[in-house]
Amino acid sequence: MELIDGTRISNNKRTRLKEKIDKIRLETGKVPGLATILVGNDHASQIYINSKIKACKDVGIKSFHYNLDLNTSQANIINLIKNLNKDSSIDGILLQLPLPYNQNARNCINAINPLKDVDGLNPFNVGLLNISKNWDEIVKNNIFVPCTPLGIMNLLHLSNIIINGKTTIVIGRSNLVGKPLSTLLLANNATVIMAHSKTKNLQKLCKIADIIVIAVGKPKFLDKNFINDGVVIIDVGINRITNKICGDVNIDLIKDMKITITPVPGGVGPMTITMLLENTLKAFNINRTKK
Ligand code: NAP
Repeated sequence: MELIDGTRISNNKRTRLKEKIDKIRLETGKVPGLATILVGNDHASQIYINSKIKACKDVGIKSFHYNLDLNTSQANIINLIKNLNKDSSIDGILLQLPLPYNQNARNCINAINPLKDVDGLNPFNVGLLNISKNWDEIVKNNIFVPCTPLGIMNLLHLSNIIINGKTTIVIGRSNLVGKPLSTLLLANNATVIMAHSKTKNLQKLCKIADIIVIAVGKPKFLDKNFINDGVVIIDVGINRITNKICGDVNIDLIKDMKITITPVPGGVGPMTITMLLENTLKAFNINRTKK
C-alpha cells in the first residue's frame, strides 16, 4: 500500500503561499482578508473554524471571525454577508456549514458576492464550473471551485496520477464534494461514474474503476470486496469513533494490497484548508486588480 501524503503536499503549498503573501505585504502594505461566519456553537464546526483561522494566520491572511447567536434571524445572517460584500478589507467570505436546522443555507450562500465566494458554492460559480470545457479553462478563469474537490484534484496532479482516459467512480453526490468533483474529473477527461445510496452493484462498479473517490460519511464502508490491486483510492470521509478519526475505507483490511490511498487523517483534510487559503489569495488578486 502506498500513501498519498496530504499533509506534506499541503505544507509545501502553504510555504509557497506564505512567500507570495509576504511579497504582497512588502510591496503593497496589504494582505488578503477572510471573513468566517459561524452560526451557533456546534462543537465540530468550532473546531473546523479554529483550524481555518489558525491556517490563515500561519500564511499571513487576516481573518475576521463572526460568531452569530444560534437563534439569530436569517435576515441578520444575510445583512452581515451583504456588509462583508461591500467591505474592501474582506476578500473572501466563508459561511461554516451546516447551519442550524431552522436556517435556509441556500438563501445565505446566494447572498455571497460570487467574487468573494471562496467556498465555491454560490450558484454563479457552480454554473461557471459546469459550463467550463476543460481544466485549463477552470484554472485560468475567475471561477471559485469548492475546496475539497479542488484539493483532491491537486493531490492527484501532484502525485502524478494520470486521470486522462481513466475510469473513475465518485461515491457520494453532495454539492460540497461529489458533484463538483465529478465535473472536475470530467474536465480532466476521466470517464466518471457517479454513485449514491440508490446505486445498484456498487462493488462491481468499483472493481472496474482505476480511481475510486469515496465521500459517504460511513466509517470503514469500503473494503476488499470493492477493490482490485492497482487502484487509487481517495478517502474523503471523516468519521469520529470513540475519540479517533477514521475514513470511509477499512484501511486495516486492505493494507496488504497493491493500492495507492489517501490516509485519514492526513490526506484530503489538510488540502481542503489549503485550498481555502489559495482561493482567498485568488479572491484578493481578482478584487484588488478590479479596484
Ligand atoms: P453528505 O452530504 O453527507 O452525503 C453523503 C452521500 O453519500 C450522499 O450522496 C449519499 O447518497 C451517499 N451514500 C450514503 N450511503 C451510501 C451507500 N450505502 N452507498 C453509496 N452511497 C451512499 O456528503 P458530504 O458532505 O460530501 O460528506 C461525506 C463525508 O465526507 C463525510 O464524512 C464528511 O465529514 C466528509 N467530508 C470531508 C471533507 C474533508 O475535507 N476531508 C470535506 C467535506 C466532507 P444519497 O444522495 O442517495 O443520499
